[in-house]
Amino acid sequence: MSEGREAFAGGALRSAAIDTYDDHRMAMCFSLAAFGTPLRINDPNCVAKTFPDYFARFAAVTQAAPVIAIDGPSASGKGTVAARVAAALGYAYLDSGALYRLTALAARDAGVDWANEAAVAAIAAQLDVQFLEGDVYLQGVTVNEAIRSEEISAGSSQVAALPAVREALLFRQRAFNAAPGLVGDGRDMGSVVFPQAALKIFLTATAEARAERRYKQLIEKGFSANLPRLLLDLQQRDARDSGRSVAPLRQEADARLLDTTDMTIEAAVNQVLQWHREANKTASR
Ligand code: C5P
Repeated sequence: MSEGREAFAGGALRSAAIDTYDDHRMAMCFSLAAFGTPLRINDPNCVAKTFPDYFARFAAVTQAAPVIAIDGPSASGKGTVAARVAAALGYAYLDSGALYRLTALAARDAGVDWANEAAVAAIAAQLDVQFLEGDVYLQGVTVNEAIRSEEISAGSSQVAALPAVREALLFRQRAFNAAPGLVGDGRDMGSVVFPQAALKIFLTATAEARAERRYKQLIEKGFSANLPRLLLDLQQRDARDSGRSVAPLRQEADARLLDTTDMTIEAAVNQVLQWHREANKTASR
């Protein structure tokens, strides 16, 4: 077990990483400790030997807290809306894209090629990451800016297309679902990670509106930006994301469409909160 001493320091459980040594019993045994503390089980797939769907079943019995799953294209504002909805409800917020970005960054730092599926998946399974008060830490170092660079954006979209990497990040994402609830944003949030989510939303806007928003953001931050170029980038990214075979970008049949082209962020947040109240009413009937 890595960080074992820290995990049990002072008699109380603290955040820890559990190495499983290719032993399914380690993964299953320590998954139970995750009820009381934010544990990371390294290489959870070692359960495949005896109980391949252990963590899916584990999630089904442990995920009682409500989930709002928000997906949508790049620069749609889904992250901002998801974070604000979470804050309004006092729920946790999971930025799943950050996990793919962190994987790409950790792989690059380790000198691992983003196309090397097995090696990148191993890095994803062992990712030493913490989300604390809006800051993201990789191996104890803040990486908020580093994971947003153009290079890492491209790398994250490359590693996110690798099935073994998605599998490695599945348990990690499900561990975020604790009371009182969770708002998660990202690609397969409602279809794969939290299929039981009471409210699933596909939040979008026209490519023109999204390019315009990104343009304003960049200018406000003092960067130079080129609107036609941003629009072309977004259109190309949409085409890539929709056309990929692994977790393609699309509105799932059970997701509600929220087109924010002519909406403010506040209006979008209020719409999600209203749908959430309606979903709660239906569930409690
Ligand atoms: O949302 P964000 O831009 O931070 O995501 C980074 C990359 O990870 C994108 O290419 C996105 O398609 C991918 N991703 C994914 N599944 C998720 C979240 C993000 O494939 N759940």
